[in-house]
Amino acid sequence: MGCTLFISDLHLNEGCVEVLDALNRFLDGPAREACALYILGDLFEYWVGDDMLTLPFYLSIADRFRALCETGVKLYFQHGNRDFLIGTQFASYCGMDLLPEIHVVDLYGRRVLLMHGDLLCTTDIEYQKARVLLRSPAWQAMFLDKPLNQRLIEAGALRQKSEAAKKMKAMDIMDVHPPEVERILMEQGVTCLIHGHTHRKKHHAVDLGMNVADRWVLPDWSSVGGGLRVDSGHMGFVDF
Ligand code: MN
Repeated sequence: MGCTLFISDLHLNEGCVEVLDALNRFLDGPAREACALYILGDLFEYWVGDDMLTLPFYLSIADRFRALCETGVKLYFQHGNRDFLIGTQFASYCGMDLLPEIHVVDLYGRRVLLMHGDLLCTTDIEYQKARVLLRSPAWQAMFLDKPLNQRLIEAGALRQKSEAAKKMKAMDIMDVHPPEVERILMEQGVTCLIHGHTHRKKHHAVDLGMNVADRWVLPDWSSVGGGLRVDSGHMGFVDF
């Protein structure tokens, strides 16, 4: 029995005390009732390498997840566009399984597609081009070779640049591109998709012609902690 929980887009960083409090309440409470917890990316505002575990703030969060894992809850992590550099060292410390960027899971007998969501925003061509570079092994090796301090500074500068660019972009460019959603649902042969990234919490019905698919967009944690709860009979949003 039990349930499966999905969260994303906490954007944790040292400045956000409220989100950290909400996370701690969640990990000590509702998360312990679950069989499995899926984090669909952007747990952190930025992640510049697993040596961030040498920083007390980040280590304390990892310790919280590790403690949850030790109670028997299965943990899964899918990279977001902010924390795509989370690696096997962080994952194994926390007891998380790292999932590929497109992942289909069997959820109580239904095949469900999990994604962070940024791959669905195909009209943001500038972003998709940058994404290819940042995900390339060559760029990552070059970046991870730099000292931690320098990487933290560069991440800060990059975030400012991306915030400025976001203000210039039309709202619909930063949302998912509906034809891409339909395409990937058909390609993966599923009728349910769960993703985050856009911070536009909603349950959408997607008309695929032959049938209607569900698209669940996870909430961010800017005002209150929340996510999606699934059990054998029900699927719905919950606040934590
Ligand atoms: Mn994101």
